[in-house]
Amino acid sequence: MSNGALGNPEVLPCGHRGCTAAFAEQWNTWPNVVTAVRTIATVVAWGVAVTTGSDAWLLAALLCYWVGDIADGLLARVTHRETRTGAVLDVLADRLSVCLVVVSYVSRHPSAAGPAAVFLVQFVVLDAYLTLAFARWSLLSPNYFGLVDATVYRLNWSPPAKATNTGAVVLVWLLTGSTLAATVLATVVLGVKAYSALRLTRLPVPRVLSGCAVLDVRPAVSPRY
Ligand SMILES: [Zn+2]
Repeated sequence: MSNGALGNPEVLPCGHRGCTAAFAEQWNTWPNVVTAVRTIATVVAWGVAVTTGSDAWLLAALLCYWVGDIADGLLARVTHRETRTGAVLDVLADRLSVCLVVVSYVSRHPSAAGPAAVFLVQFVVLDAYLTLAFARWSLLSPNYFGLVDATVYRLNWSPPAKATNTGAVVLVWLLTGSTLAATVLATVVLGVKAYSALRLTRLPVPRVLSGCAVLDVRPAVSPRY
């Protein structure tokens, strides 16, 4: 434990990376510090944007969120410091950051209200519901949801899905300025989230968490002692 940040836990009791069995849950980790810093930076940039009426500062707030969100997740994975607490804090910080930026942007640019409304329903309600659902199983974060359901994982938390779900609508809006294109894309993502939520409701939820997500899902066929 004491011989360096990368010294733990490569060998897990069940052999899966992403199961909870080998991890001690804690909140005081460097990735969580990064989550706190990037959220404070986003709120400060948003505050400047609101005070000055500057769209550039609003974009800066969005970039603080985006870059920081990639950084905290990457740091957690690379240094093996992923925790369930961190995953939940990350979800909440994301919703706060995105809501501040989007609502302020729409108040200045009412033409964005349509795609923004669809996007917010998708991101703040459906995506938050889906992202927090990992805690029903013995998983460290949604990044390992493939151990429970490969389709829901691919549609929501594989690298291309993540990029599309959070960034595509904003990018299309900023690059094309097309309300129709942004609304259509936001609706497609909303559809993917609705399908995923429906699929999630059909998955059996374990009564007791075993520490291994694969055992949670298939207790009948896996050996238990
Ligand atoms: Zn496992």
